[in-house]
Amino acid sequence: MSDSSQPRPPQSTAPQPRSPQPRSLQPRPPQPRPPQSTAPQSTAPQSTAPQPRSPQSGAGQSAPTVVVIGGGYAGTSTAKALDQFADVVLVEPKDDFVHNVASLRALADPSWLPRIYLPYSGLLARGRVIQDRAVKVDAGRVTLGSGEELHADYIVLATGSGYPFPAKSDLDSTAAAHEKVRAAHEAVSRAARVLIAGAGPVGIELAGEIVAAWPGKQVTLLDAAGDILGEQFRPELKAELRRQLADIGVRVLLASPLRHQPPADPGELRTFTVATTAGAEITADIWFRCYGVVPSSDYLAGELAAARLADGFIEVNPYLQVTGQDRVFALGDVASADRKMAGIAARQAQLVAGNIRALIAGERAGLASYQRSEPSIIVPIGPEGGAGQRAGSEDLLPAEYVAQAKGRDMMVERFAELLGVSGRDGGTHE
Ligand SMILES: Cc1cc2nc3c(=O)[nH]c(=O)nc-3n(C[C@H](O)[C@H](O)[C@H](O)COP(=O)(O)OP(=O)(O)OC[C@H]3O[C@@H](n4cnc5c(N)ncnc54)[C@H](O)[C@@H]3O)c2cc1C
Repeated sequence: MSDSSQPRPPQSTAPQPRSPQPRSLQPRPPQPRPPQSTAPQSTAPQSTAPQPRSPQSGAGQSAPTVVVIGGGYAGTSTAKALDQFADVVLVEPKDDFVHNVASLRALADPSWLPRIYLPYSGLLARGRVIQDRAVKVDAGRVTLGSGEELHADYIVLATGSGYPFPAKSDLDSTAAAHEKVRAAHEAVSRAARVLIAGAGPVGIELAGEIVAAWPGKQVTLLDAAGDILGEQFRPELKAELRRQLADIGVRVLLASPLRHQPPADPGELRTFTVATTAGAEITADIWFRCYGVVPSSDYLAGELAAARLADGFIEVNPYLQVTGQDRVFALGDVASADRKMAGIAARQAQLVAGNIRALIAGERAGLASYQRSEPSIIVPIGPEGGAGQRAGSEDLLPAEYVAQAKGRDMMVERFAELLGVSGRDGGTHE
């Protein structure tokens, strides 16, 4: 494996415990279940209750148009928060919102699929969703794949990032995406030995999901780095996760980059043997790549192009405005502001929506600035295991906390609420 393809820690899977509004990203201490207030914090907008329209959108005045590009965690939350105050247009190529925080559970158990692909039809009361891709975005103008041009008073760039399957899907069709997950599930079912390249949060979570679903499988989790999880997290947390992985029989190989890529495609059922630079040999029947966040920002054009950093992320100022722009904002995974987490994207969405409202109201002095979050994370190992850390606390978050916050329900209900489809399937799987 070349240097550029060696496992690196992926984006972190930060905890999203529930907290009083405004919802904080910081996990709260474990609390007994089930009172609502102790459930994991939603990454959904703070309130979906109708709110007064802004003066600008009152009778006789047309409301400003806000084009939100990307209907992931950041874009849906921003669009919803502005729906009552502006003419919101959400541009998203996928058939459905994809709750990819739960995607690894769906690989282990495809009956989760209908709960993590949620239609956009209930998201906005006033605004509309255009199913298309932005191919060119300049200040004030968005060109879609269809050739249609949208003129906007404000633009919100929320196009997120790509990540290797099965953590994220690159398919726009829900039917095709479901089919791909089912095929991968079938392939893992038939594999005796699984290699996971990348021992960051996603790799650890995938190892846990596979062992929980198929206890007899031999899983090897490998990383080029000398420890799991990534540098910003505490040694005690890494030690606890390593202990739990050992308990469930996962073989962890650290400081062990592969000499070569496996000859099979990720997710393909095909037996192969690969060697690490540390001298180990691994024979596996299937492998998955769990590293490599790629920001989706190739559409930036004109004066916006200068804000695209060398690594592809979009540079923003403390108000989450794109550098050099007043009326163009960027947030979530695609922006340079913070770590790449759904909960952080949701917090940024509230700030961006508030700042756009301030600008609409002509209150430039009312712009709020974004504070970067302290490292915090929960990492499930199957539905009942895992551990975490939260900002400002010496204590590790135990498995029970992680199970409550994410492992058991994968936070699906809060996103069903956000998308306006809560209770659609009565909580059952397909
Ligand atoms: C397996 C896994 C588990 C995770 N677990 C957690 C967790 O527990 N907690 C947590 O906080 N975070 C977690 N994360 C991280 C989290 O998923 C990301 O931080 C989050 O997806 C970022 O949201 P986003 O809206 O910025 O981007 P995305 O979710 O990537 O959404 C971007 C959207 O933009 C669309 N888009 C892209 N390009 C265009 C274009 N040109 N035009 C129009 N639309 C476009 C895409 O189709 C997509 O729908 C996890 C990630 C993975 C992979």
